[in-house]
Amino acid sequence: MTAIEVDDVGKSYTGKGGKRTDALSGIRLSVPSGGFVSLLGPSGCGKTTLLKCLDGLIPVTEGEIRVGGVPITGPGRDRAFVFQDFRLLPWRTVLGNVVFPLEGVVSSRAEREATARRYIEMVGLSDFERHHPHELSGGMQQRVGIARALAVDPDILLMDEPFGALDAQTRELMQIELLRIWELTGKTVVFVTHSVDEALFLSQRVAVLSARPGRIAAEFEVPFAHPRQ
Ligand code: ADP
Ligand code: ADP
Repeated sequence: MTAIEVDDVGKSYTGKGGKRTDALSGIRLSVPSGGFVSLLGPSGCGKTTLLKCLDGLIPVTEGEIRVGGVPITGPGRDRAFVFQDFRLLPWRTVLGNVVFPLEGVVSSRAEREATARRYIEMVGLSDFERHHPHELSGGMQQRVGIARALAVDPDILLMDEPFGALDAQTRELMQIELLRIWELTGKTVVFVTHSVDEALFLSQRVAVLSARPGRIAAEFEVPFAHPRQ
């Protein structure tokens, strides 16, 4: 089954004074349900733009993106985003951050907290649910970011260089942790990175983007990819 289809997508930004930047052109991509696909390429090639288009955070200027066969018109609860800079709410605790996306979705507070705690446990932070983000290391903060994304039980995780801000050792631990969560939850993952090593280690399939405007220059299956258990 196909989770995401990107059908001849182009994206241009119009800046101040009408200046146009063509960020993406002629993108075709198919992401299988439950698959782990990386978008790989140098800075400025349009990876983040494509990921935001997949989330519906920004509209495409050409073509169409379908999720589960249905054209997307904006963000949906079937997709969740994980940011490089975590974007946690600093005045809220770990529990408060993970509960956040469930507010307005799940009416019972006890149920919201029970769900949040399940994901906090999944990322190994049960002992820290009362801590605030500034009391946590970068790796721990991104664990919270991942738990928050999982809390709404989306089919698809969109991850924008989630480990880019972490030191090498923490990054390796988080990569292994992410594979465990991917295997455990059966989510579809689209993962943006500029690291060839990271793309090859994590994903089953890699789409390589070239810059200006971003196009898919190559696409391949990783022959030694982690099989889903
Ligand atoms: P990457 O994630 O691969 O580094 P981006 O998607 O961030 O690439 O950017 C792709 C291109 O689009 C770049 O040339 C960038 O300068 C441009 N761009 C990104 N966001 C905007 C924006 N909001 N307005 C104008 N141009 C933008
Ligand atoms: P930017 O223009 O800075 O790139 P984005 O369009 O990427 O911002 O993100 C939109 C906003 O939505 C961000 O401010 C982000 O913090 C917020 N956001 C998205 N998902 C969540 C979430 N699950 N919980 C809290 N805030 C979120």
